[in-house]
Amino acid sequence: MIGRLFSNVSHKVQSLLYRASLMMKPQVVFVLGGPGAGKGTQCTKIVENYSYTHLSAGDLLRAERAREGSQFGQLIASYIKDGKIVPVEITIDLLRKAMEEMMKKDEKMFRFLIDGFPRNEDNLQGWNRVMDGKADVKFVLFFDCAIEVCIDRCLERGKSSGRTDDNRESLEKRIQTYLQSTRPIIEQYEKLGKVRTVDASRSVDEVFAGVKAILDREG
Ligand code: UDP
Ligand code: MG
Repeated sequence: MIGRLFSNVSHKVQSLLYRASLMMKPQVVFVLGGPGAGKGTQCTKIVENYSYTHLSAGDLLRAERAREGSQFGQLIASYIKDGKIVPVEITIDLLRKAMEEMMKKDEKMFRFLIDGFPRNEDNLQGWNRVMDGKADVKFVLFFDCAIEVCIDRCLERGKSSGRTDDNRESLEKRIQTYLQSTRPIIEQYEKLGKVRTVDASRSVDEVFAGVKAILDREG
């Protein structure tokens, strides 16, 4: 009797949890830091250890640039080469679709690392306009890395990455964009108490230990 009651209750709890997960809003961590700060590397490690999907805004844009028939291919290519930030409508659309697809495939995958976004005021306003109430930004994971270290890493990566922007000329522009446009966004989140900072000038494993400490604390 008690057994049956218990199994009934547990069944109800399970179906409630299931329904709650269907209604789950995407939980987002913005991952920011200079070019070469290690965002992509660390996101890959996070995905191996936690239940997050990694969405790199830069990778999504590069995929769109390469997609046959894309009306934005040319525009994206020139923005990336110049280290400029693509108009937010394009980026948001790619991010939103990627989140929707993931959650349609597996409703338990509602945690997202959005890497390399928002990079400027236009990005932030676009996000707030389109995603307000549709996703929760839990915090910003900030990879704090000395600019000289960022430059060295990107030039090293440029030897094999095949990226059109891992060269000295593009890199200077990217760094400028980062300092002028992205840092103020990080500062805005800082004022809201929403930034978790990791010293990213260290080795991959040392940085990841810092990341883990944050994620274990934040849940
Ligand atoms: N980019 C953009 N909007 C974004 C993310 C990236 O316009 O939200 C463009 C921008 O030109 C940037 C480039 O894509 O310089 C490369 O971004 P990525 O995040 O791949 O570079 P990383 O910071 O990881 O080196
Ligand atoms: Mg990256």
